[in-house]
Amino acid sequence: MSSHNSSGPLALGPPGQLLLQPLWDQVRARAALAQSPPFAVLFSITAYLGCCLPFVLLDLLCPRVRALRRYKVHPDCGPSARQLLGCLGRTVCQHVALLLPASLLHCARGPAPWPREAPELLQLARHVLGCLLLFDAEVFAWHVLHHRVPWLYRTFHKLHHQHAASFALATQYMGAWELLSLGFFHVLNVVLLQCHPLSVLAFHLLNIWLSVEDHSGYDFPWSTHRLVPFGWYGGVAHHDLHHSQFNCNFAPYFTHWDRILGTLRSAPSRHTCKLPLSQRGKKKSEIWP
Ligand SMILES: [Zn+2]
Ligand SMILES: [Zn+2]
Repeated sequence: MSSHNSSGPLALGPPGQLLLQPLWDQVRARAALAQSPPFAVLFSITAYLGCCLPFVLLDLLCPRVRALRRYKVHPDCGPSARQLLGCLGRTVCQHVALLLPASLLHCARGPAPWPREAPELLQLARHVLGCLLLFDAEVFAWHVLHHRVPWLYRTFHKLHHQHAASFALATQYMGAWELLSLGFFHVLNVVLLQCHPLSVLAFHLLNIWLSVEDHSGYDFPWSTHRLVPFGWYGGVAHHDLHHSQFNCNFAPYFTHWDRILGTLRSAPSRHTCKLPLSQRGKKKSEIWP
């Protein structure tokens, strides 16, 4: 996972490193558990569901709390219990059937030694940002290809578009090929940048949070795209527009690739659900009573 290794005594590092050292020491003390394949899968699904949970609770509250609807991208739409359970079931199955074997395969050559030193704070930030930018570019290329080639779209990506007004648990509603592709890009980037394991962990958590936020259907004043200046970051309304219009906003997070290639489309922060009623009770989101 990382090229970092150290066997010498732990020297007094720079302030950024000292800041993270206690945290890293805590993680290192549990290295055997943390590097076991079942734990990796359990951690991944717990982190994902933990990120989804606040939005699922909001979805359950929204029909009864009118004030919450002002933050919905589609104020009149929300997932049904059947849709939520369907997404949850698929996520659990894929973690067990795909990620567990992949994790076992990865660990078959033995756990990689972990460095004693924590990364510097700036180094961690650089690695996480670098991984995010690389991941954004790779997913953009993958995504454009899977929309431009009809066979690829029908076979691999159409499933993710079944929820036109997306919700948090629909984030990982995708086929095996799409999930494995995203997982491959994720691992490739941390290897390319030779990230410290703590940077890998930070990137993993941030990547899950940002992808869930993209699909959450909620546009809050503190949403990531409102915190990043100059429209560099797309966010929930941006990705929601991709889900409803298909031919724009292919990058998952940042806007530069869509801007350069002419596929960027700005979205109104909120709009009413225009899905046909007949579709809402099936694969598309339902309208609340
Ligand atoms: Zn999506
Ligand atoms: Zn798409």
